[in-house]
Amino acid sequence: MDSGMVSKIEKARRYAEEKDRIRFVHFEVAFRGDHSTYTVRYENGSWQCGCRFFAQRGVCSHTMAMERILEGMLAEAGAE
Ligand SMILES: [Zn+2]
Repeated sequence: MDSGMVSKIEKARRYAEEKDRIRFVHFEVAFRGDHSTYTVRYENGSWQCGCRFFAQRGVCSHTMAMERILEGMLAEAGAE
């Protein structure tokens, strides 16, 4: 392997430990809950989930779990 690639791999290892470098702006996941699988979407600080609880309350165990998993890596609401 050439030295250029070696240095990129080393840099990737360091980056992977520094999660605050990453901001998710939008994504979609299939979230397997205890009873069913739901589509959870994130767009510039706003969540959507296909579960019934989210439809009633605007937040749910799936979105809260994603916030915990991605703590410090989510774009603020309205941010680019
Ligand atoms: Zn949900």
